[in-house]
Amino acid sequence: MRRILIAFLLMLLAACETVPITGRQQISIHGAAEMNALGAREYRRIIDESDVVSGTREARLVSEVGNKIKNAVANYFSQNGQSDLLKGYRWEFRLIDDDEPNAFCLPGGKVAVYTGILDITQTEAGLAVVMGHEVAHAIANHGSERMSQTLLVDLAGAALSVAVADEDTTTQVALQTAFGFGSALGVLLPFSRLHESEADRLGLIFMAMAGYDPHEAPKFWRRMAAAKKEEGGEGFEFMSTHPSDETRVKDLENAIVEAMTYYHVPGRSQVAQPSTPQKQRKRRLAD
Ligand SMILES: [Zn+2]
Repeated sequence: MRRILIAFLLMLLAACETVPITGRQQISIHGAAEMNALGAREYRRIIDESDVVSGTREARLVSEVGNKIKNAVANYFSQNGQSDLLKGYRWEFRLIDDDEPNAFCLPGGKVAVYTGILDITQTEAGLAVVMGHEVAHAIANHGSERMSQTLLVDLAGAALSVAVADEDTTTQVALQTAFGFGSALGVLLPFSRLHESEADRLGLIFMAMAGYDPHEAPKFWRRMAAAKKEEGGEGFEFMSTHPSDETRVKDLENAIVEAMTYYHVPGRSQVAQPSTPQKQRKRRLAD
């Protein structure tokens, strides 16, 4: 038993990863290749069961904004010698016809936006808030971390030998719990407060890198809070009460200061901070 325990602790040490930019340490038992394969499989299943919108202006916008953010982040990592972080990602950005104001991501860069959230995003920059947030969940490997946490809780509770002998089933259960898929259309359990806050912070930075003004984020969340008051539906990622809307908007306002240091307007080689009318004019010219 002691040997198993030592092996277990060594595994945990080896499974420590660092979230890019925030530098937070996280546990990640499953390899990236395994997580990406699971994410791709689950995404395919949801896409097959959903009403995917293609060829419309909105569907094109979802794909365009997603790719813009993804490319900006890839550029940033490449300039910082961190291209490895995105190895194995196969990005997809799809629009699903569903009235719920929601969006989700799965490991390996599989993102979907529901048509129901477009009334709340309203503008391209509003959509960039949602997609920056989802890209952040993917890049920060939150799915993998949550799955590891679920697995650890299971392992701690169960007899270790049984769990290891039956690893396939355990992994399956952990995956389902981690992503909370239940009904025909993938309904996700809200991420933890920590993951949400981190995705908000990174999402702001990522949208800024792609040339979207992060000041749009608190505006979007205020509209989301108003919609939630009207409709309820707290089981969804974007209706989640954690963190509370008040805290979320306040945190976002603080995070804007950090995100503005990454704000990059396409066509300009330098980081731009359009805080003065003169700079704003320049920005419009650059557009
Ligand atoms: Zn989220």
